[in-house]
Amino acid sequence: MGKITGFMEFDRKVEGYAPVEERIKNYKEFTEPLKESELKNQGARCMDCGIPFCHSGCPLGNLIPDFNDAVYQGKWQKAAKILHSTNNFPEFTGRLCPAPCEEACVLGINEDPVSIENIEKNIVETAFKNGWIQPEPPSKRTGKKVAVIGSGPAGLATAQQLNRAGHEVTVFERDEKIGGLLRYGIPDFKMEKNVIDRRLKVMKKEGIEFKTGVHVGVDVTATELKQDFDAIVLCGGATVRRGLPIPGSDLKGVVQAMDFLPQNNRKVDGIPYKGEELTAKGKKVIVIGGGDTGSDCIGTSIRHGAASVTNFEIMPMGTTERPEGQPWPFWPMRLRTSSSHKEGAERVFSISTKHFNGDKDGNLKSLVTVQVEWVTTPGQRPILKEVAGSEKEWDCDLALLALGFTGSETTIADQLGLEMDPRTNIKASVANYKTNVPGVFVAGDQRRGQSLIVWAISEGRQAAHHVDAYLMGQSYLPLKGEGDLPRV
Ligand SMILES: Cc1cc2nc3c(=O)[nH]c(=O)nc-3n(C[C@H](O)[C@H](O)[C@H](O)COP(=O)(O)OP(=O)(O)OC[C@H]3O[C@@H](n4cnc5c(N)ncnc54)[C@H](O)[C@@H]3O)c2cc1C
Ligand code: SF4
Repeated sequence: MGKITGFMEFDRKVEGYAPVEERIKNYKEFTEPLKESELKNQGARCMDCGIPFCHSGCPLGNLIPDFNDAVYQGKWQKAAKILHSTNNFPEFTGRLCPAPCEEACVLGINEDPVSIENIEKNIVETAFKNGWIQPEPPSKRTGKKVAVIGSGPAGLATAQQLNRAGHEVTVFERDEKIGGLLRYGIPDFKMEKNVIDRRLKVMKKEGIEFKTGVHVGVDVTATELKQDFDAIVLCGGATVRRGLPIPGSDLKGVVQAMDFLPQNNRKVDGIPYKGEELTAKGKKVIVIGGGDTGSDCIGTSIRHGAASVTNFEIMPMGTTERPEGQPWPFWPMRLRTSSSHKEGAERVFSISTKHFNGDKDGNLKSLVTVQVEWVTTPGQRPILKEVAGSEKEWDCDLALLALGFTGSETTIADQLGLEMDPRTNIKASVANYKTNVPGVFVAGDQRRGQSLIVWAISEGRQAAHHVDAYLMGQSYLPLKGEGDLPRV
């Protein structure tokens, strides 16, 4: 375990950020790493409690007390080995995970939890710096061919696991570069894209083939792929965006976040983009939607040089403390303030947009809102009610819609005859990730709906186990922990 008295001796410490006025001048990551001695002290805070609830808090089942202890002892290579035994890409989660493990940390009951995510990031960065992350090609090939469609975290995790099991894996991606939302959704200031490229280099050396610019269902039908491969794993994400069907939503200046953010990431990367330039420069920006995507729109608009940035959230403002009814170790729905929120956005809660107003040329000029409240009746779902007389008009020349996604595209599902679930995701059970068509599996956001990177990696790993078992009759690829999922 960490140091027996560590949790009493050391306070929680996490990475700091560069000052706002500096970091908004560019799109680079701006965290200020902890010193090695500080990281060891953070590892020492882990109590190695009898039942480490952080294990179940982490969707990957990361062996957190074990790598915390290794870090405390300065055994970084050992820590990297432990970490990679459950997580293919800790450099993504160490930067971007909301860290449900920390909400489940036992120390968090009455103290600040262990800074698990920062420790994770530093383990993997130390491992890359020291050349410990090397290609791990399989010692022999099985002769089975697997197509993975989509190269987000789910596709990448699936591909790496199946390649390690000896199968020939080809990843098909319709975008020009690999990474899914890691590449084209999440801005560089949260994760610079060389972090993806560094890992891809290793994966290519392991023998995984990547085909970019191939839109499956369009450039090649899923039925053709089915004939050419022994198994297909769909990892295409939940890409259908939620719209805001209110009057004026077709005005010039009402823009989907997932048009705005990918274009900016392409610009930062020097990749040509299609369509008109979308810029927030000098504009009064209103970001509608208070989640991760909304937060990324705020940071990007501020870096563009927006005149002002306001963020609307339909839910009431949360408390900073755990709400009653969401006790430890569960994930609490509380107020979360991102680094982008701190860069100069005004946040407005319990607000709903009624309509957009434009000028005679069809340009967005303002929008009208009402305050809302959620009325709860015992035993029933909360109902949204408008507050009478609360209408307000806001000047606005760029409204960014960050309202989430409604599910998976259906082209491939139609071609293969796949069943969808009631939430428009491709239907497959978490017990085996199999669709209704033999040999076709699905993982990540395309199965579970809009979610998190850590879940995408977790589903990719789990699906890989079941694909391997389907192809070989049994699988030695690890499943998450032991217990609730049946072994094949
Ligand atoms: C703006 C934004 C910010 C986010 N920030 C965070 C965050 O900070 N932390 C976090 O944990 N999560 C975050 N998320 C959520 C996270 O990015 C997703 O949950 C995760 O990327 C899902 O992984 P995936 O592999 O299932 O799908 P995706 O990452 O969506 O990848 C799917 C890939 O499949 C490709 N594809 C789809 N259909 C086809 C086809 N027919 N042929 C070929 N290719 C195809 C797509 O082009 C895409 O590259 C964010 C999401 C967004 C939109
Ligand atoms: S992947 Fe996320 S939940 Fe798991 S240990 Fe890392 S930060 Fe925690």
